Amino acid sequence: MAERPSILIVEDETKIVDALRAYLINAGFEVRAAYDGEAGLASFNEARPDLVVLDLMLPKLGGERLCTEIRRVSRVPVVMLTAKGTEDDKVSGFALGADDYVTKPFSPRELVARIESILRRASATGPALYNVMTWNGGDLEIDTAARTVKKRGGEISLTPNEFKILACLASRPNRAFSREELISAALGDDFDGFERTVDSHVKNLRSKIEDDTARPLYVLTVRGLGYRFGGGGG
Ligand code: CA
Repeated sequence: MAERPSILIVEDETKIVDALRAYLINAGFEVRAAYDGEAGLASFNEARPDLVVLDLMLPKLGGERLCTEIRRVSRVPVVMLTAKGTEDDKVSGFALGADDYVTKPFSPRELVARIESILRRASATGPALYNVMTWNGGDLEIDTAARTVKKRGGEISLTPNEFKILACLASRPNRAFSREELISAALGDDFDGFERTVDSHVKNLRSKIEDDTARPLYVLTVRGLGYRFGGGGG
């Protein structure tokens, strides 16, 4: 991982959050915290963390529900943090898709070591952690596993090249891609076409996903270079 991995802590006990945050920052992570399940889900969708530390007993939306929601759209590692320590609790936590399970009281140092080990494994196994990405409260949804795109819930039909360009841009919001990069990253080196071909794919793509192609929200032009994905989180 080139950038500092980001960790989302969802936990309603501020003392635990503060202690864990200090250890994680010290270990070189970027840290965000949410103090109830609903805020945790919103923060997860917006920040797209590399790993989630999730308390089970949370106000508003329980940790089990939140874990299920996270698993619906991604395989981002989840470490469950909880006072429930019976074998049954652990088994059901793993059944929900948790990657690890830590029982309170716990050692922050040990938790940091576990997080590091999980992230090493996750980065070794490759591609996108998120298979479903949504923007603007569901206005646009891209599912890279099913290879579908939805606009306000309705599936729209993209050509394979349009899909690849969109998925490539959306995988790194705000990063500017040159046309050449888009060709090699999205379309492949054996792509038979010119840089201008990218422009015509983008034109068609915009007509399908943008409300106003003159003022695009998602596929933005980077003058003199290429394109970037805008649109923000949520
Ligand atoms: Ca709690």
